[in-house]
Amino acid sequence: MPFREVTLNDIREAHQRIKPLIIWTPLVESQQLSDSIGAQLVLKLESLQVTGSFKARGAANKLTSLSSHERERGVITVSSGNHGRAVAYVARELGIHAVICLSEAVPPSKVEEIQALDAEVLICGRTYDEAAEGAQRIQRERGLTMVHPFDDPTIIAGQGTVGLELMEDIPQLDTVIVPLSGGGLISGIALALKSMNPSIQVIGVTMERGPAMYQSLRAGKIVEVDEEPTLADALAGGIGFDNAYTFRMVQRYVDDTLLVSEDEIAGAMAFALEKHRLIIEGGGAVGIASILYGKIKELGERVAVVVSGGNVELTTLFKIAREQGVLQ
Ligand SMILES: *Cc1c(COP(=O)(O)O)cnc(C)c1O
Repeated sequence: MPFREVTLNDIREAHQRIKPLIIWTPLVESQQLSDSIGAQLVLKLESLQVTGSFKARGAANKLTSLSSHERERGVITVSSGNHGRAVAYVARELGIHAVICLSEAVPPSKVEEIQALDAEVLICGRTYDEAAEGAQRIQRERGLTMVHPFDDPTIIAGQGTVGLELMEDIPQLDTVIVPLSGGGLISGIALALKSMNPSIQVIGVTMERGPAMYQSLRAGKIVEVDEEPTLADALAGGIGFDNAYTFRMVQRYVDDTLLVSEDEIAGAMAFALEKHRLIIEGGGAVGIASILYGKIKELGERVAVVVSGGNVELTTLFKIAREQGVLQ
């Protein structure tokens, strides 16, 4: 695919195009977190987005942008769960056949949810990266359109619509904190926000266990990291040696990136459950963790934390809640 710079206008057009398929997610203020930092802090609840994560935005933008020929052939994707579920959902809404390649690491509830959306589910490898290779092979064999989970300008523009909603709901934003894996979400948000107000600070948060983008930024080149089990399973996986968009966009637009531990992620999930009655998954909790554990010094007066997803097994969440002492 030829390189095409993503623009604010792409994100605005994406928002118009995907409106019938997604929701404008709500903001809730966190009194506890606001008090702890002495500023106003809101949570942007993509955990309440259709399919339980923001990934529906990129998927909707990509699938509504396909030619009629591409729609007829169908789409394929590889996913640690949420992207696959989002592609399956949007494909069903639009009457497009979807093949979803998963790794064995994907939790069973996510597999079942994708199957329930009429998609063709294939377990293509042990790890995310292995599944990605399997998906490429099947894509070539069947002439399907690959829907990349992050490194695609149409996906990035779709995810960036989170930034448009934030800006419209809170024009005076100082800092936005965004969960980070392949970087599609933060690239789109940062581009949208910085195009409208270059002084807004955008910070990416990811887990200590296998932080591919974080390590690549520090190395100044794309590096591979070992995949380790993590509560933030939606953030696992590499950024791809053939990365064409998100690495450069994160380098250019994101002010800082930082890491949180497994224990901090668990603490943030328990906090959201206890204080806000919110069910959020590990990958969706890393931004809250960064605030709860005081990782960021300069935040300004108005802060938004993107809570990127809510697809966690209830048994996992309740086990964490017990371990963290918020449940008997
Ligand atoms: C995919 C995902 C992320 C990371 O998004 P990237 O665009 O890969 O950086 C964060 N949180 C959740 C819940 C996700 O599903």
